[in-house]
Amino acid sequence: MTDAIAAIIVAAGRGTRAGSSLPKQWHLLSGRPVLAHTLDALRNAGLARLVLVLHPDDLDRASALDLRGVQVVAGGATRIQSVRAALDALAPDPPDKVLIHDGARPFVSAAVINGVIAALETATAAAPALAVSDALWQGADGRVGGTVARDGLYRAQTPQGFDFAAIHSAHRTHTGPADDDVAIARLAGHDSVITQGCEDNFKLTYPADFDRAAMMLRNKTESDQGTGRAMDIRLGNGFDVHRFGAGAGCWLCGVLVPHDRALQGHSDADVGMHALSDAIYGALAEGDIGQHFPPSDPQWKGAASHIFLRHAVELARARGFRIGNCDVTLICEYPKIGPHAQAMRHALADIMGLDAARISVKATTSEKLGFTGREEGIAALATACLIAS
Ligand code: MG
Repeated sequence: MTDAIAAIIVAAGRGTRAGSSLPKQWHLLSGRPVLAHTLDALRNAGLARLVLVLHPDDLDRASALDLRGVQVVAGGATRIQSVRAALDALAPDPPDKVLIHDGARPFVSAAVINGVIAALETATAAAPALAVSDALWQGADGRVGGTVARDGLYRAQTPQGFDFAAIHSAHRTHTGPADDDVAIARLAGHDSVITQGCEDNFKLTYPADFDRAAMMLRNKTESDQGTGRAMDIRLGNGFDVHRFGAGAGCWLCGVLVPHDRALQGHSDADVGMHALSDAIYGALAEGDIGQHFPPSDPQWKGAASHIFLRHAVELARARGFRIGNCDVTLICEYPKIGPHAQAMRHALADIMGLDAARISVKATTSEKLGFTGREEGIAALATACLIAS
């Protein structure tokens, strides 16, 4: 799929029917905002050009999301105004087609999305829906007043897909209320094709919906782990060197190891912790310590390196990963690491909020060869394994 198709995720609502003052799209599912799951679903279907419409009060919350390739737009007072703002944002470099999706439908499948896209090859508008199968009643005061014929009735879902120029023009000329974007397209004279919806593509609205969503994610995780098919595992490596200079003792993996010299550096020069932090950033493909904590910034001078490691771990969690295990190797002749290796594992475990059984710290010399052999400094390398949770 190409950038010829853009997707708008509408998430500016204040919807609080879910029973909390926090808008439902920001509730956590498996430790991540609903919106993070929705973005994943669209990316997994191959959509790369995404526009996310947020309420102006929620723009700060966006840092909890992976926004690579995402254009964030401030929404308006109504859903229609929010969609209009996103369409306007796309207009300078218009896509051929646009899909408009509810932020609170995190379980939309590639099949549902592809059904809409396929229909747009010949139609101006297309949207998924499910035929109503239950009997429909009219009721009042808790009593059934009559039945309604369900023939030809559908439950509408999203994403609703359109020829971009057609829906943008329809929105620009539209005034007054409308139930959804298909309604706006129809008022402008565009027929909409009904494509196959899916029961799982429900809109999180009431508290019970979140229980259902949590169960679906648990089942998915278990089945992924059972088959090993869709497990998302990321590996990263890190390497660092610091030189010796005047001082007493070296900070290594969170432990001050007695020595007649100290490692030099902008921070506390904990070479092991730096390599490990870089391994985690590497697994996330999000740069390195220097990118997140620029050495040019005086506030990090002499900083304790656990600040960096903790940041990397929290970033991994925010991106939906847990740390499976990590392995650090320190390369030096002196000081001797062995007597301190267990204390280092436990220090790292405390900082990372991880069981020490998942953390290895070991050491080697370089047989008196090279800069570590000449005792000019210490090198460290680290590997981290991240598992999507
Ligand atoms: Mg360093």
